[in-house]
Amino acid sequence: DRKRDGKNGLQVFDDTIGRNTRKRAEIEQTIEKALENEWFDAYLQPIIDLKTNRIIGYEALMRLHHPEHGVMAPFDIIATAEETGAIHDIGKQVFGKAFEHFTALSALSGDNTSYLAVNLSPLQIEPSLPVWLASIVHLFNIDPSRIVIEITEATMLHDNPGIQTILRKIADFGCRIALDDFGTGYSSLSYLSRFMVNIVKIDQSFIRSMTGDVQETRDRSRMLIEGITAISHKMKCTVVAEGIETEEQRYLLQAIGVDYGQGYLFDRPLSFEQLRDRILHKDIPALKVV
Ligand code: C2E
Ligand code: MG
Ligand code: MG
Ligand code: MG
Repeated sequence: DRKRDGKNGLQVFDDTIGRNTRKRAEIEQTIEKALENEWFDAYLQPIIDLKTNRIIGYEALMRLHHPEHGVMAPFDIIATAEETGAIHDIGKQVFGKAFEHFTALSALSGDNTSYLAVNLSPLQIEPSLPVWLASIVHLFNIDPSRIVIEITEATMLHDNPGIQTILRKIADFGCRIALDDFGTGYSSLSYLSRFMVNIVKIDQSFIRSMTGDVQETRDRSRMLIEGITAISHKMKCTVVAEGIETEEQRYLLQAIGVDYGQGYLFDRPLSFEQLRDRILHKDIPALKVV
């Protein structure tokens, strides 16, 4: 009978819902196990000073070492973790690893100027954050000015009147604040005036369309990047371009005066071991002369 065989539309529809529910339950379970067994890790992606071509900082990006599925990226995990509230514990585990890797690499290479940028979801901007941040910065004996908190416009949109105060405390402590994925949210510019921001990260979609197929789109994207850079510099913000994949993009951004860049052209997000081995072998591709 067709119904039992699942060959009518309704049955297929039900299966889709079932699959999504199963997938969601699976992710929740994975998160739980990962927290218990410390499977969460931070990969670090080098950020390059486009003038000197040297590494100026690292962005910590969450990864999950799954015993069967291998290394998992944040996609799916973060959305679910935000819904269940697990994002708080995940954040602590990921930041712990990020600080650990960052201090170890700094010690190994004798570098005490590069910065560490960490990503925070709107939910993570909670009243206890400034004190927690201060304690981990002290624990690892890092100069607070070497820590950057990356937030998105979603954070500013989040209905939480305390956010201004929390960000102010973090800034007073000496950490810097970066506005991530700039230009993709609503009323980006108003956030620049209302919130204390030190770094503007231009979203990778602008970088991509700057060298896309359509000439007009390319011109417009380039003009937008020029404008964002000029406004940011006027407001004493450092400008970072994300998602640089080609030499042409690097060249154009450098010519525009964008300060720093990040992307596969230079490096993918790397594990601690990969970065350590590079320092030990003095093999640092990002430092190559171009
Ligand atoms: P994001 O903060 O905007 O991070 C940049 C994303 O672009 C990263 O994806 C990075 O791997 C990717 N990327 C870097 N260079 C290139 C490039 O040249 N081309 C392309 N196509 N992609 C590039 P990832 O690691 O999958 O992270 C995705 C997002 O997840 C992040 O976007 C951030 O919003 C969030 N996220 C990552 N780690 C954390 C974390 O620890 N906590 C929280 N709350 N969110 C995190
Ligand atoms: Mg980021
Ligand atoms: Mg971004
Ligand atoms: Mg993003």
